[in-house]
Amino acid sequence: MSAIYAAVRKLPNSKKKRVLVTGGAGFVGSHLVDRLMLMGHEVIVVDNLFTGSKRNIQHWLGHPHFELSRHDVVDPYMAEVDMIYHLACPASPPHYQYNPVKTVKTSVMGSINMLGLAKRVKARFLLTSTSEVYGDPLEHPQAESYWGHVNPIGPRACYDEGKRVAETLSYSYQKQSNVQVRVARIFNTFGPRMNENDGRVVSNFILQALRGQSITVFGDGSQTRSFQYVHDLVDGLIALMEGDFSDPVNLGNPEEYTIQNFAEIVRDIVGRDGVSIINLNATQDDPHQRKPDITRARKEIGWEPRFSMKQGIEETVSG
Ligand code: NAD
Ligand code: UDP
Repeated sequence: MSAIYAAVRKLPNSKKKRVLVTGGAGFVGSHLVDRLMLMGHEVIVVDNLFTGSKRNIQHWLGHPHFELSRHDVVDPYMAEVDMIYHLACPASPPHYQYNPVKTVKTSVMGSINMLGLAKRVKARFLLTSTSEVYGDPLEHPQAESYWGHVNPIGPRACYDEGKRVAETLSYSYQKQSNVQVRVARIFNTFGPRMNENDGRVVSNFILQALRGQSITVFGDGSQTRSFQYVHDLVDGLIALMEGDFSDPVNLGNPEEYTIQNFAEIVRDIVGRDGVSIINLNATQDDPHQRKPDITRARKEIGWEPRFSMKQGIEETVSG
């Protein structure tokens, strides 16, 4: 505890920002909070703890720069802040499909509330959007210029379309009310603090392999994903927020793997004998391929991933 407190930078008041992080008790949010706190900023986390947990941020509870507010972003929130990182939204398919109406409300009303706050207090606003805005993409790899291929009434629509509206709202507030907006289109991300009940592929495969259970590949495993380590994502979010570029930016690792191959890699890294890989039914509307084109991130915010997927999995498994 004291070691981490001692690592907090002392910023002069002119450089210290008041930063609101919605969803800051979740997987990505808690890593972002760590970085912002260590940089010396004042951080307010707004989270209803639906998929997040106090455990993820408990090392900051009591620090004078830190505040946790248990609050649902569907309801308005007031605070004097300089920056808003708006992450609040369940991100794992089983979680966002559990109550699809609530997922849409969280994306739409949550973004309206946070953009309204940004407008009122003249804060810069960053939305964590998603590669899911590209749906089951017909263009490969996906550049930000691609408009996507989303089923508007399928099981993933509450999340995909919610985020698409959140992007629309962001640029509408920018045009209409001069809110400074940043939009990160995040591709599959993993790392420490993934909830063991998260349901996404990385945590499922690692836990199954560690427990000596069969690894469950949905469908024939030929669908692809590109996995980035969470510390790379945090670098990208901060670079995007602090830079001058306001069009959407893909943040992801362009190394692409089939899910079948990914299952084999996780099994080999965990190294437990007798773990088999089984194929279950495919899920509806599962995107067939996904790989970010990160030309824009490299050029506009000087960002690219530092960790390979394998390095990240090794650290996550041993951590
Ligand atoms: P997560 O589920 O771990 O975190 C989401 C956080 O938001 C949780 O702490 C949850 O309690 C909170 N939350 C949910 N609904 C809320 C509400 N109505 N009011 C207040 N808080 C609420 O997910 P994550 O992986 O950390 O994702 C964070 C953000 O990044 C999300 O916006 C997600 O869409 C985006 N994203 C993540 C990935 C990824 O691979 N992790 C990929 C693309 C986009
Ligand atoms: N997947 C899988 N087994 C699991 C969980 C997921 O094969 O136990 C597959 C899923 O069908 C998808 C990919 O892994 O093709 C990534 O799924 P995830 O839920 O992590 O995220 P998505 O990118 O689909 O939102």
